Amino acid sequence: MIDMEHRGHGPVVCSQALAIVLVAAILAPVTAAGAGQFDLEHSIPVRSYPVRVFYSEKNKKIAHRIAEICEERIPVLAGALGLNAVAPFQIQVIPDLKPYQRRAQNDLPTWGIAFAFMESQVMLVDAKRAASAWNSLEKVIPHELSHLLLAQRVAPVPMPLWFVEGLAQWQAGQWSVLENWRLMNAVWSGKTPSLGRIAAAFPAAEMQARDAYRISYAAFTFRFENGLEELPQFLSLLAETRSFTDAFVAQWNESIIEFYVRFHETVQKRYHSRLLIFQTGPLFTIIAVLFLFIFIRVKLRNRRKLKKMERSELGLSLDDR
Ligand SMILES: [Zn+2]
Repeated sequence: MIDMEHRGHGPVVCSQALAIVLVAAILAPVTAAGAGQFDLEHSIPVRSYPVRVFYSEKNKKIAHRIAEICEERIPVLAGALGLNAVAPFQIQVIPDLKPYQRRAQNDLPTWGIAFAFMESQVMLVDAKRAASAWNSLEKVIPHELSHLLLAQRVAPVPMPLWFVEGLAQWQAGQWSVLENWRLMNAVWSGKTPSLGRIAAAFPAAEMQARDAYRISYAAFTFRFENGLEELPQFLSLLAETRSFTDAFVAQWNESIIEFYVRFHETVQKRYHSRLLIFQTGPLFTIIAVLFLFIFIRVKLRNRRKLKKMERSELGLSLDDR
């Protein structure tokens, strides 16, 4: 559950290969029927934006918290993307995701808390899971908002998932020392997927998917290591050219494939050199402990010898008397 608190969220269903499949299979029923399909009898507006949160009576508290988070975070999230005006979208707090997943032919991961549909501009929040990991809303909602706002900024441009997910994690502040450690472990054990492999779809299994999220975050921050002010510039190019590949070359004078190769080489180098430190760390500790053990043993032996000598000397002196 710690994982869910930090990073629990569904996949972005964005305007690309994955989305095309899902949009056809899933989104149509949701957008066609809207919130009514889930018997969400109530709704509240987000004060400063054309956003509504739909909910049923028992999820009132969650819905109000989500509206508050939207009010606080939308200006920051939209600002970082260079999005000047937020277009309408809706958030549906669903009491039970199961009927929805049945309609989606179980394409949505069972471990997600919220799901963003970039094209139809709908966010679904699983109330049950959100309630059991209350603090996670602070991270999960901004993550999904990032997806919806990104779509408003550049849609309908297809984008690789590592970029979309890396950006959302960065915007939601979902990275931590623990995540870094997990990424390092995944690199050591050769479990990290290549960026090319996760460009269109993430693995369905939770553990593999989480490795994909981590490497996405690393790739995103590596791309923008010279400063995040490049982000709105790049998104402008993306909206203009309507091609991720063309905008990428125009912004950085490097093809995506060249970037992938450079990124993977850097990751291997970076984490394997850290591995060396960790490998020598325990070795150093073992040597230090051994040294201490020998030192104490010698000390004790000397003390025993000294006592023996003292005793024998005392004995001699007594005999003398
Ligand atoms: Zn996401």
